Amino acid sequence: MASTPKACVIGSGPNGLAAAVVLAQAGLQVEVFEAEATQGGAVRSMELTLPGFVHDFGSAVHPLGAGSPFFSSLPLHEYGLKWIHSPAPLAHPLDDGTAVVLERDLGAMKTALGEDGQSWCGLMRPFVEKWKEFAPEVLRPVPGFPKHPWLMAHFGVNALRSAKGIARRFHGERARALFAGCAAHSFLRLDEPLSGAFGMLMAVSAHAVGWPIPRGGAQAFADALCGYLSTLGGEVRLSSRIESLAALPGYDVVLCDVTPRQLIAIAGQQLSPAYIRQLEKFRYGPGVFKVDYALSEPIPWKAAECRRAATVHLGGRFEDIAASEDAAGHGRHADRPFVLLSQPSLFDASRAPAGKHTAWAYCHVPNGSKVDMLQRLEDQIERFAPGFRETVLARHTFSPADLEGMDANLIGGDISGGAMDVRQVLFRPTWRQYATSKQGLYLCSSSTPPGGGVHGMCGYHAARMALAKLSTR
Ligand SMILES: Cc1cc2nc3c(=O)[nH]c(=O)nc-3n(C[C@H](O)[C@H](O)[C@H](O)COP(=O)(O)OP(=O)(O)OC[C@H]3O[C@@H](n4cnc5c(N)ncnc54)[C@H](O)[C@@H]3O)c2cc1C
Repeated sequence: MASTPKACVIGSGPNGLAAAVVLAQAGLQVEVFEAEATQGGAVRSMELTLPGFVHDFGSAVHPLGAGSPFFSSLPLHEYGLKWIHSPAPLAHPLDDGTAVVLERDLGAMKTALGEDGQSWCGLMRPFVEKWKEFAPEVLRPVPGFPKHPWLMAHFGVNALRSAKGIARRFHGERARALFAGCAAHSFLRLDEPLSGAFGMLMAVSAHAVGWPIPRGGAQAFADALCGYLSTLGGEVRLSSRIESLAALPGYDVVLCDVTPRQLIAIAGQQLSPAYIRQLEKFRYGPGVFKVDYALSEPIPWKAAECRRAATVHLGGRFEDIAASEDAAGHGRHADRPFVLLSQPSLFDASRAPAGKHTAWAYCHVPNGSKVDMLQRLEDQIERFAPGFRETVLARHTFSPADLEGMDANLIGGDISGGAMDVRQVLFRPTWRQYATSKQGLYLCSSSTPPGGGVHGMCGYHAARMALAKLSTR
């Protein structure tokens, strides 16, 4: 009888773990090698400031984690994962002291947005109501015939446009600002094609799934995946950085949760020169400058509605956010950067000592930036929450290089595994997508389709391809 095939995964980010689970579910013997001392990659939590304050090093808010077709098929709640939903997914304060709130319920959203309520809900509703069909389509490689062609044609008509183009359908500043913040998750300029698609995906997921946080921190998500993997017989070997493929003999398949630059370093000698040249052309996107805070009290928002949401977008009007993203996209540092902020302890008491709070905030900067953005980032928080600085007990800043030092995939502070523009969404990282020029060797990180975010679908699709090829060998 043939022996059980052996698989190895390099990297325990959500995509590496997703790949490992798919392979283990198929009966393969799976080992995961992780460079860091803790599993999870950019889905880890740690005490970064003061004792008792738990901070998410990378991802904090998980619409695509909770709404992922693959992750939502796993019994992760049995392994400690509990999603917490704030009353509203997102708040977006404005300079007049009010905030636009993204309500999960479309009826409430229609009322909240007033003159633009109808347009907003008309745009999102078809995909919100069909999330179960929509999510697998949008979280997979783009070339290929969709299972739901009408739904995807409808999405494509809007999604290929820029955020600026889509925002034209809104008359008021409030809806335009809210959409700009959602679209800016793409790291694209808001006049670039596809920036509208990201805006829609973020907004649709907010209505369909919510923007939940894991109780206890993002680490609980990675730990639940590892817990489930171990019941399937998979093993995670921590503090095991793989420098060369030569160190991994005897595996039938090797899946790499790394980006193209690292793949060349690890496996270059076994890859074809033509494939290496293609990998070298892969472009990384802007980076992030991040700050974690221990706070003496909740953030003193001018607009009280901001307290209803775990995520707050700080940037003001559409034009202000567009200017910030334009700067990062052109290698400049915005004076008033768009800031993404999460305030998990308002909804999860386990994140901080009684009565105290945490906050997580970052802004986009040019890849590899060495500029200290702390003052500019905090000025943006103060703009909408005067007195914020007086609540800070301690802070921890991460430059792009600091982030990369904690997770080698965060090249130059790029948290998406590479720029997500049209070319690199279609051919990510090359036309081969998950496959490489070496038989049995695959890429499975967010540098493959569908790209950045904690959804595990890169790992899922890569592992499915590896299994399909294995069965024909
Ligand atoms: C600051 C920040 C905020 C974010 N916020 C969100 C958010 O709120 N919501 C969201 O959905 N997404 C968010 N993201 C993005 C999300 O975390 C990533 O898209 C996701 O983690 C990518 O998963 P991955 O498995 O491809 O890579 P990673 O999570 O980066 O994991 C890669 C793993 O591979 C390991 N590794 C690398 N090289 C080697 C080697 N040679 N040998 C062994 N191991 C190796 C690394 O140590 C790491 O553990 C954020 C990311 C960051 C950094």
